[in-house]
Amino acid sequence: MLRPDQQQRYARHLSLPGFGLEAQERLLASSVLLVGAGGLGSPAALYLAAAGVGRLVVVDDDAVDLSNLQRQVLHSTDRAGMPKVESAKRTINGINPDVAVVTINERFTDRNARELVGQCDLVLDGADNFPTRYLVNDAAYFEGKPVVHGSIHLFEGQCTVFARGRGPCYRCLFPVPPAPGTVPSCAEAGVLGVLPGIIGTAQATEAIKLLTGIGEPLIGRLLRYDALAMQFQTLSIRRNDGCPLCGGDPTIHTVREIEYTCVTPAQRALEIDIAEFEQLRNAGTRCCLLDVREPHEVAGGTVPGSLHIPLGQLQARIGELQEWRREEVVCICHVGIRSIRAAELLQQGGFERVASLRGGFAAWMKSGSVGGEA
Ligand SMILES: [Zn+2]
Repeated sequence: MLRPDQQQRYARHLSLPGFGLEAQERLLASSVLLVGAGGLGSPAALYLAAAGVGRLVVVDDDAVDLSNLQRQVLHSTDRAGMPKVESAKRTINGINPDVAVVTINERFTDRNARELVGQCDLVLDGADNFPTRYLVNDAAYFEGKPVVHGSIHLFEGQCTVFARGRGPCYRCLFPVPPAPGTVPSCAEAGVLGVLPGIIGTAQATEAIKLLTGIGEPLIGRLLRYDALAMQFQTLSIRRNDGCPLCGGDPTIHTVREIEYTCVTPAQRALEIDIAEFEQLRNAGTRCCLLDVREPHEVAGGTVPGSLHIPLGQLQARIGELQEWRREEVVCICHVGIRSIRAAELLQQGGFERVASLRGGFAAWMKSGSVGGEA
């Protein structure tokens, strides 16, 4: 039975033909594991909370950053630096006190995956990387829980539901992750801010349908959305009998995190880590620090003594670096993806000793080196 305030809160669900009290009570008794409180997890969490999902378990190890707010509408400017799960809890509590929020301020890994998945009715996958998507898929398969999958890239997104025994799994579609280097700079690829709003809301819709048993879930169908053309497309997707997880002769029997990197082995060889970088600087080696970030990023701080040429201008301005052709050049960007591209450009231009700082300016800031230099 609903309390009087709940009858008021959910009035538009209660009067909805095909929904009503029964579906509302199911929602209130249900629990959802939200993997990631980012672009997809934000709109999903807002609507699941408003709809009255009884328990939301939010797992994310990231903190709110100003650069998230363009699309992660669960968070706000005054919460920069706060763990995303804490910010999520505050927002959700504000929307609907009926929802119990469990915050897991950790990375979703092969150590906690099955336990977290096992205690919820379904998983809403709001991950932004391949290892987590495979992990969500595998853990949910073994625990027999459906996954509402969503992903976005640039101006396009997709959504589907993986349910064991009823349709394909993520590995049926993508048996192995894409080759490193084929996915444009994962960590820094752009995305239209409103796009995850559409896909995350579609995911929330599917979650509510699965939890209440209404409608036709997106099992065996993939919804594709193109924001520029404003077109939705639904494709049939089928189980792959050769799938390493759900196929006839499976090779995956336990949940294990896959190794995945956005860079190729050749690119990896160009990287130096913070310790090597500091060693180089402390040894007094003549060295050019080339910051290839955009002007607005550099304005927020930079490694002292660095030279600034945005990546997009590097080819045209390579002549400015002639004196460094035989010297050490360390390229730096925000997280170490663009800087690899810069190092490759310089290498192709005949520079002999180029490197890219792994983790970029963000890692350098985190390492605390900034204190010694300021
Ligand atoms: Zn499969």
